[in-house]
Amino acid sequence: MDVTVLCDAVAVFPEGVGEAFGGWGDEQAGWSSRVVPGNVAGVGWWLHFHSYLVVERAGVTLVDVGVGPAGGEAAEWLGVSGRLPRLLAQVGVGVTDVDAVVLTHVHLDHVGWASDGVRPMFPRAEYVVQRAELDHVRGGATYLNRIRPIEEAGQLRVVEGETQLRGMRLLPTPGHTPGHQAVVTERAVLAGDAFVHPAQARWPELTYVYERDPAVAATSRRELLSLAAATGIPIAAAHPHPTLNVHPKPTHPSALPGGSSPTPDSQLPPGGGDEPSPGSGSQLAAGEWGIVPGVLGGDGRGVCPVYRVQR
Ligand SMILES: [Zn+2]
Ligand SMILES: [Zn+2]
Ligand SMILES: [Zn+2]
Repeated sequence: MDVTVLCDAVAVFPEGVGEAFGGWGDEQAGWSSRVVPGNVAGVGWWLHFHSYLVVERAGVTLVDVGVGPAGGEAAEWLGVSGRLPRLLAQVGVGVTDVDAVVLTHVHLDHVGWASDGVRPMFPRAEYVVQRAELDHVRGGATYLNRIRPIEEAGQLRVVEGETQLRGMRLLPTPGHTPGHQAVVTERAVLAGDAFVHPAQARWPELTYVYERDPAVAATSRRELLSLAAATGIPIAAAHPHPTLNVHPKPTHPSALPGGSSPTPDSQLPPGGGDEPSPGSGSQLAAGEWGIVPGVLGGDGRGVCPVYRVQR
């Protein structure tokens, strides 16, 4: 199995982190400047809009399909348009090669390339969505513009609860939306919008103000963190970049796998290297998560050409 990140777009979220996340304070700001330096930009913060390509012998799957083309709703909202078709061509995947499109949820920045409003963008693919999500969005603009054409083409597969899809496990992770699901693969836990900002992996109780049910969302985050910690599989969510490696126990950073470096920046691609500020190596308190940014492990490759913009 090979998991590749396809970076559809990068944009600055138009609201400040302090307004977007309940409980954001100096501690979170300090952590972010150390662990994801450059993430906060002016009043907003950088988000990537990732689609994940999962290639198995048994088939080709896309998990989420980004912002979509210029002129689409998400592109208008964010002021950037997506480039997924170009990135797919770059990795040698044509639209007819895609066997499945898993939608973690039906927000407009995750279904941008699902259909062109008339027909599905991936003519052979089954599109997989949770029943609770479909019930939640049916009749709304995003459903009408992006999902209804898929349903009418007979390509929408509605699942309920935990579902095995070839070598992947679709795992309900409600809260952000009622039918949000994560995709557990051998290489990464594709967590959709369960984590909108990397700091939510450190403080799962940090609530994103647009979450449908903040308490349920925090529970889903904790479950995903536990899963990632127990399996050693990194979390790759739709918007934070890079992926997040979760450690099972609060650990002094110098004791993390990979060595004696006191800074997690050593695990970032070249171009990182901010010195940790004094005190950044302090012991985490009980119950806190040990998080270091990483890149997809194993055979995972990254196609995220504007990564350095974020730094
Ligand atoms: Zn990216
Ligand atoms: Zn969302
Ligand atoms: Zn999103």
